Amino acid sequence: MYYGSGNYEAFVRPRKPKDVDKKSAYIVGSGLAALSAACFLVRDGQMQGEKIHVLEKDPIPGGACDGYQYDSVGYVMRGGREMDNHFEVMWDLMRDIPSIETEGLSVLDEYYYLNKDDPNFSLMRATKERGKDGETNKQFAISDKAAKQIMDLFFTPDEELYDKRIQDIWDDEVFGSNFWLYWRTMFAFENWHSALEVKLYLKRYIHHIEGLPDFKALRFTKYNQYESMILPMIKYLESHNVNFVYDCHVVDVKFDINGDRKQAKKLVYKSSEGEKTIELTENDLLFITNGGCVENSTMGSQNSVAEFKPELKEGGGWDLWKRIAAQDDSFGHPEKFCYDPEQTNWMSATVTTLDDKIPPYVQKICKRDPFTGGVVTGGIVTVKDSSWLLSWTFNRQPQFRTQKDDQLVGWIYGLFTDVPGDYIKKPMRDCTGKEICMEWLYHMGVPEEQIEELAENSANTVPVMMPYITAFFMPRAKGDRPLVVPEGSVNFAFLGQFAETPRDTIFTTEYSMRTGMEAVYTLLNVERAVPEVWASTYDLRDLLHSSYALRDGKKITDMQMSMMEKMALKKVLKKVEGTDLEKLLKEHKLI
Ligand SMILES: Cc1cc2nc3c(=O)[nH]c(=O)nc-3n(C[C@H](O)[C@H](O)[C@H](O)COP(=O)(O)OP(=O)(O)OC[C@H]3O[C@@H](n4cnc5c(N)ncnc54)[C@H](O)[C@@H]3O)c2cc1C
Repeated sequence: MYYGSGNYEAFVRPRKPKDVDKKSAYIVGSGLAALSAACFLVRDGQMQGEKIHVLEKDPIPGGACDGYQYDSVGYVMRGGREMDNHFEVMWDLMRDIPSIETEGLSVLDEYYYLNKDDPNFSLMRATKERGKDGETNKQFAISDKAAKQIMDLFFTPDEELYDKRIQDIWDDEVFGSNFWLYWRTMFAFENWHSALEVKLYLKRYIHHIEGLPDFKALRFTKYNQYESMILPMIKYLESHNVNFVYDCHVVDVKFDINGDRKQAKKLVYKSSEGEKTIELTENDLLFITNGGCVENSTMGSQNSVAEFKPELKEGGGWDLWKRIAAQDDSFGHPEKFCYDPEQTNWMSATVTTLDDKIPPYVQKICKRDPFTGGVVTGGIVTVKDSSWLLSWTFNRQPQFRTQKDDQLVGWIYGLFTDVPGDYIKKPMRDCTGKEICMEWLYHMGVPEEQIEELAENSANTVPVMMPYITAFFMPRAKGDRPLVVPEGSVNFAFLGQFAETPRDTIFTTEYSMRTGMEAVYTLLNVERAVPEVWASTYDLRDLLHSSYALRDGKKITDMQMSMMEKMALKKVLKKVEGTDLEKLLKEHKLI
């Protein structure tokens, strides 16, 4: 497997890999990583679909990418995905996955046209004091000291950030800024999470810095991601006769490790037929989704709590990874990510409005009619002064194909689940859907005497607790995540958010899909480059422009500097006078 960029390799159709007709594949999980691996096996590996077996413990596919209407509970989507035009692997695949919505279009076409015609941006990024404008005014509002802390992190080598927390690196200069408000709520970072991950995000999305305050950097699918992404992939794979086995818990994998040679030999799974073992030869490729951000997630309802149940059990992603990791150090260290769910949990709640009473409050804040089918909030609205640090969003409606025309389905989430709310004086994790809705309505500015009535009769709210949702943000060091294909592997690969691939950032659809592509390309030796992670961090234009944007348009000469620094800067500017560098600095308004 090797990386490339540009059109030369992007458009080549790889020749059939040697001996692929002798091979078969077993894929553990049916999340985006696993489904991508299956698609790449079919499209580029040219493996017969009948020889690909997807083993999923849940009754339906999709993993973290959900979106269902549960009988007598209502609509539920644990999350909504903010996505990027530079998800290179994702678009490489999605251009070949037919849309299930419009005949003749690919999923990429559908997404492209939608976001072209109706670009995303927010008209209210944050609120305060019960529905008033949070007055972030598209500013990052960082001090010169904070700018320096951010820049220092940007240039710190990864190795120096191993096992460090964000709060070890930054202080209130950064934490008190709008920058951090945007960042932590958009990406779900807590101050105790990994400093390395923040650095990787900064580098990965440096081209988007200007678009963060109002989310013009973001793009969204038409419906929830189960309907807009998972279902088309499933249809594509089913059309190639890929075999899906649901309610199938893979409980163990046994490896034969002989010096540097590592081979997966046995796959043990439990299903309604009891425990079974599949013997694996060198020609049986095994793809394992290890760990999982939605493992142990629980669902409540309008009148019940989503219980916090972090105990790890046999047949789950964490237990499986622990058993695998015990067999070789190169298989990673799961305990680094899952040892303390208090540091990795948060909750979301899906709210469905049932009549015309709540939508005007939504409209007042987002400044758009939510029923037009176009962008509504344009990304999350953060309630700056909420104890739970609530954010909420309504994407284009309908979010579900079965949704009624006069209903809105939106999403609320809180980063702090263990502290009392501001109206409901209970921690979010002890609240029913109705109570979470009441807290939200309070912060939307609904008169207090109407709050309970509206939460009870004008909405249905379903909470979800996810104890390991940010497990991948826990501080880590080299080797804590196994390489996608560990050294010496003959027939197996790791997939998903806890497999290591350089430069990309976890908690993204792209990261999972990239691991799927890299795994297939490595194990089958596919003769085509995997598109490298978008290289904006090496693009001087993006670096200059982000410096300008991050400092809210101030020039470099406006920075507080010592006399010595001022003189040094003067010398540099003198040196670049009359060069292209000076032109670039001017173009990006830095001088
Ligand atoms: C709330 C939320 C918000 C998000 N927001 C964004 C966003 O804004 N932008 C973005 O790009 N991404 C976002 N993501 C991330 C993205 O959706 C996920 O990273 C991605 O979907 C994960 O896919 P995966 O295949 O790696 O893992 P998963 O989807 O977790 O799939 C793993 C699968 O393996 C199965 N499995 C586990 N163990 C076993 C076993 N032992 N036997 C059989 N099956 C097993 C699981 O049931 C699951 O189906 C968000 C995710 C969530 C949950």
